[in-house]
Amino acid sequence: MLTLTFLGVGGAFAKRNFQSNALIEAWAQGPDRQDQPDDTLLIDFGATGPAALYELRKQPGFTYLDANGGINYPAIRRVLLTHTHADHIGGLEELALANMFVFNDPDTGKHFKPQLIAPTSILVNLWDHSLKGGLSVMPGRYALLQDYFFILALRESDPEHARFQMLKRYEFEMFATDHLFIRNKYDWASFGVHITDTRSGETAFYSGDTRFDYPVYSRMLDAARVAFHEVQLTEQVNPVHTLLSQLRTIPPDVKRKTWLYHYGDDWDNGQYGVVGEEFAGFAEPHKRYVLFE
Ligand SMILES: [Zn+2]
Ligand SMILES: [Zn+2]
Repeated sequence: MLTLTFLGVGGAFAKRNFQSNALIEAWAQGPDRQDQPDDTLLIDFGATGPAALYELRKQPGFTYLDANGGINYPAIRRVLLTHTHADHIGGLEELALANMFVFNDPDTGKHFKPQLIAPTSILVNLWDHSLKGGLSVMPGRYALLQDYFFILALRESDPEHARFQMLKRYEFEMFATDHLFIRNKYDWASFGVHITDTRSGETAFYSGDTRFDYPVYSRMLDAARVAFHEVQLTEQVNPVHTLLSQLRTIPPDVKRKTWLYHYGDDWDNGQYGVVGEEFAGFAEPHKRYVLFE
């Protein structure tokens, strides 16, 4: 079984919900028969990620994320990054430092090093543009990204190295999204996630941050068993997110299986009943969604 639990479902500026980061859990048996999953992966870990994880560890079924009243960071085996906005990577410094200085890997006697997974186009700038300021020094020496993480670089142009698997069954592949660009579409790196259960052939779709780009990803979205699409509720000219009015134009049967996330703090002001009527609904934080049985 593969499950997805949002740490938060809010947009970059949301305060009533944590930002849109998700915990993927892979289970040989399932949460009813196991205390903790066999493998874990975060899709993004933004500025509110640590506080969100701190809350999640108090929920029934997530106590494996607790260590002595704090966050059990080594329970997070891998982190997958969709892009470098702070609502998606702003928690990495804490995760890296906690694993480095608080937790030791019982297998090696060394500090715990999670796997960091992202397309090369994200990784080339992640350190120099974002993480270096807080992570490049430790007592008595300089440090590099690989001191904190085992790095898996996905190469989009090379099918052999564009994917990875969890439990040798669930295959993850990233696709470029049109979140914002400088001169040409896709020239600033951002990605969505397409997941396949290689046993059943079923798929799941996670849009990542993107403008409405349905013709490009419709094949994946239409075929998915369950889908999560970002949304911006407030209308805007030239948005960098997908407007609700745009999402409403996709086929009704596709809307019905699509959960909306990355929304602003005004979701419950009474204006957005259409989300529950036409879509699967607003995605909820701290609820386990089953991607594949
Ligand atoms: Zn975002
Ligand atoms: Zn973004």
